[in-house]
Amino acid sequence: MIVLGITGGIGSGKTTAAGYLRSLGFACVDADQIGRELTADGSPLLEILDREFGPDGKYGRGTAILRDSSIEGIKILDRKALASVVFSDEKARARFDEIIHSRMLRIIRKQIEELRKKENIRGILLDAPLMYEAGCDTMCDHVILVTAPVELRIERVMKRDGSTREDVVRRINSQMSDEEKARLADFVVDNSGDTDELCRKLDEIVEGLNK
Ligand code: ATP
Repeated sequence: MIVLGITGGIGSGKTTAAGYLRSLGFACVDADQIGRELTADGSPLLEILDREFGPDGKYGRGTAILRDSSIEGIKILDRKALASVVFSDEKARARFDEIIHSRMLRIIRKQIEELRKKENIRGILLDAPLMYEAGCDTMCDHVILVTAPVELRIERVMKRDGSTREDVVRRINSQMSDEEKARLADFVVDNSGDTDELCRKLDEIVEGLNK
């Protein structure tokens, strides 16, 4: 069974593309969702993150990264506080990626193996915004990169999330560039047109895979 990867920078349209591929019969493994579950309230990983990035951690900056929840004994991750610790230091970022990515890859591999047993699906779609950064590409037969001009991506995200231009630009700049990703991808889909055009381009790719 084919494993198709989909990736792209913030606001490129990868979620839109993944939605269309799902409608064609692909079963989706969502790397972002797995990442969110790993750091959900009360998750055992929070203790590990606290030991490394919390106030007394090796990479800590005196900032608390966990908060108490209304349920006794259940901690909540303060994502903003963690980001301020992790994104201010390259070594901390590398350690954070190592902790998260290794666990994420293990779960992705397991989910893919489960989906391989299904008969009524067209293929498996691995939706991973950090496809190359996390090493998810090693699990894909082909990777599709969705791209769009940066200005258009900024406009689309501002409209979608109500975020400020500065915030979107900062997030775009923290990611691997499209040029770098395009060198690694098997297919590059330009999503500067409308969604019908995006779907047509995806149809072409999927039809090509069956030949
Ligand atoms: P993020 O990384 O921030 O989650 P994404 O790459 O998954 O973003 P989408 O959420 O699919 O991007 O698209 C960003 C916004 O742009 C959404 O509101 C989506 O509806 C819109 N959009 C996507 N493709 C197009 C298109 N071809 N034409 C017009 N709007 C589009």
